[in-house]
Amino acid sequence: MLIQKSIIGIALLFLSCSGGDITPPQFDGEAAFIHLGNQVAFGPRVPGTQASKDTREYIYTHLERCGLNIDSQAVSFLDPYTQTDTPLVNVIGSYVVTEGEPAILIAAHYDSRPRTDYPTDLALADNPIAGANDGASGVALLLELASVFLKKPPPVNVDLVFVDAEDWGKSGDPDHYLIGSREYGRSGIRDKYFFGIVVDLIGDADQQIFREVFTQKYYPALNDMIWQTAAKLDITTFVDTIRHTVLDDHLSFSTSGVPTALIIDFDYPYWHTDLDLVDKCSSASLENVGRVITEIIYRPSLWPKMK
Ligand SMILES: [Zn+2]
Repeated sequence: MLIQKSIIGIALLFLSCSGGDITPPQFDGEAAFIHLGNQVAFGPRVPGTQASKDTREYIYTHLERCGLNIDSQAVSFLDPYTQTDTPLVNVIGSYVVTEGEPAILIAAHYDSRPRTDYPTDLALADNPIAGANDGASGVALLLELASVFLKKPPPVNVDLVFVDAEDWGKSGDPDHYLIGSREYGRSGIRDKYFFGIVVDLIGDADQQIFREVFTQKYYPALNDMIWQTAAKLDITTFVDTIRHTVLDDHLSFSTSGVPTALIIDFDYPYWHTDLDLVDKCSSASLENVGRVITEIIYRPSLWPKMK
């Protein structure tokens, strides 16, 4: 696979960080869960739709309230299935502690899938999915992180990146997934970040998160950091076993020069079905992942050392 080859050449370089450890504030899973429900209430967040726009406005409003700087990247792409130009907008919220210093990249996709691959009724196949877990859960986590920063500033710059059009491709057509994150990667991000973490499908009420194969192959030190932190916090839904090879936005960032891990719970029975609904998700699951990421952001001593 093309993506695999291009990652291999990237050196794993982590810059030293000036900020020291800070005891992190509480990550509130209940507050994150409200963000999840509010996104689903807008309707499927398919690129170019009103629901997508409403979700962006919701993200902007919350990030602004929490004191982040907001940037966006708007482009259009040619939909290979209809040959029409389709707009996408990536949203970047920057919490700046020290101007000009690199940041940590935390990313999630805010689009939801325009079709239902595994419908419970064939008549539903052309419907876009609600995407409570596939899309809304990761965004919910990022929005609550912004609230965490408002409680107590982190020791380092953090970019919360909400990418569009992750889930566009049809099954078996990997070239038309990750459209938004590839665009962001092409904007020259290599020197902006120490490392990245992508979260996706992290809201399943029955949570089990394994080390993802691509991340383990190219950046095992990032996985070590994540699973050791979860163990330290006694979060047992992070299972320290390698499972699932997943095409996701971490590959776009990694091929652009930012070592990036994927945190995903890929054992979700409602994946790409019409049953990916709010009642399949839980605040406790969001809080588990949120606590791990908060701990990592606030404690630079946990980061892999420079090689
Ligand atoms: Zn998906």
